[in-house]
Amino acid sequence: MKRTTRKSGGDDSARAAELRAVVERLLVLIGENPRRHGLLRTPERVEKMLRFMTQGYRQHVETLLNGALFPIEYDEMVIVKDIDFFSMCEHHMLPFFGRCHVGYLPNKKVVGLSKIPRIVDLFSRRLQVQERLTVQIADALQSQLKAHGVGVVMEARHLCMMMRGVEKQNTVAVTSEMRGVFRSQQTTRTEFLKLIRRGSVGDGD
Ligand code: ZN
Repeated sequence: MKRTTRKSGGDDSARAAELRAVVERLLVLIGENPRRHGLLRTPERVEKMLRFMTQGYRQHVETLLNGALFPIEYDEMVIVKDIDFFSMCEHHMLPFFGRCHVGYLPNKKVVGLSKIPRIVDLFSRRLQVQERLTVQIADALQSQLKAHGVGVVMEARHLCMMMRGVEKQNTVAVTSEMRGVFRSQQTTRTEFLKLIRRGSVGDGD
């Protein structure tokens, strides 16, 4: 055997072997020959791909943010925008992907900026619907930061709409979730929406 056994033990490797067997069976059922050269290692590749694309199930926000929250007097809006994300729709297990914009109004503490894209990844790497993904990111930030408010906007293209079904190639689905002052104060929400729409740094606008 060329593949090494995972350190975490028998459970994981048994599950991986079973998943590979399921993928091989899937290949047969769609009319393929899993013994032909190009497909020989496909079950193994698909198993690894799925493990990566669903690793969010095995991660926790608390662990991810451990030590990354800092007390601060800063009380202006913090925005991290144009965060690329890739997820899989739970209805078809096809990718949906796009950009996520996050803003919050700190309440005596901030989170390390690099952690915000990692929170987006954590919830994206599961089977999702875009609406729930948006809410989960807002929930996680609000519960960890106890901020005055949180806003999350996600813009995505869904391969299940583009490749099949309605076959609409240029449709972008936009979802948003506003919490605290982002919901209750029009000026805060408007400022957030204005800042995420402005061209990116270096665009020269
Ligand atoms: Zn779908």
